[in-house]
Amino acid sequence: MDSSGFFLRSHTEVSAQPSFTFLYAPQKNMTRRLLIAGNWKMNLTLAAALELVEGLKKEAASVTDVDIAVCPPSIYVQPVAAALKGTNIGVGAQNAYFEKEGAFTGEVSMGMLTDVGCRYVILGHSERRNVLGESSEMVNVKVHAALDAGLIPIVCVGELLKEREAGTTEQVVRRQFDGSCSGLTADQMAKCVIAYEPVWAIGTGKVATPDQAEEVHAAIRKMIEKNFGQDVAEVVRIQYGGSVNDKNAKEILAKPNVDGALVGGASLKVASFMGIVRPS
Ligand code: PEP
Repeated sequence: MDSSGFFLRSHTEVSAQPSFTFLYAPQKNMTRRLLIAGNWKMNLTLAAALELVEGLKKEAASVTDVDIAVCPPSIYVQPVAAALKGTNIGVGAQNAYFEKEGAFTGEVSMGMLTDVGCRYVILGHSERRNVLGESSEMVNVKVHAALDAGLIPIVCVGELLKEREAGTTEQVVRRQFDGSCSGLTADQMAKCVIAYEPVWAIGTGKVATPDQAEEVHAAIRKMIEKNFGQDVAEVVRIQYGGSVNDKNAKEILAKPNVDGALVGGASLKVASFMGIVRPS
């Protein structure tokens, strides 16, 4: 928090350790820059990942007003981070474990991620919640561990189709948000990104309408305000995720409480991902 009482974010986030000491968001408001992050999920070979990175590097070099990140499978995080070192594209992981080290076969720690140049970590993605049974309590422990390691957690929340149809979207999202962000200080919350991803829209081609997204994003911002105060609510970026592509991005990103996108399928090709970073 700066002396005027506002939480401000670094314009040029190029180091593994995020800096929260400064700046602005020209296209949204005075405190939030768009963050467009690609979630590659369990896709690509190493060669294809590096080819994608080379294409993105070229196309993104001139982008100065949007934060961009890619989140490769964990085995490719290190080579992708090395290839992107010194560029304006950050690297995130899709998950990590909360313990620092030890006998946790198959897991990767938050500290290992920062060690290889990672800046973000996606936590509580619906595929981890619904396919792998991850609870909000587990997500919460991971959010604390990520912040302790200097990572920016991208905390995912979102309702199932049956929950939307039952009219319980806000209740579900509130439960996930409260559970996942429990025990954070205001400063810690200010460092997090929330991704609203309605599960029915992920990988289905059924994108939420801009109004549906805005309604939930505004509700999430109110939840942040209630738990952490207005200054924090003003700076936390809330991404939308769920079948975002270069055709629908512009309208969704234009909504006042939508501060970026978490992109799955469309992040696997340079043209479609850059068409979201720079929607026409
Ligand atoms: C995601 O994986 O977070 C996602 C939103 O996927 P898609 O864009 O493919 O729906």
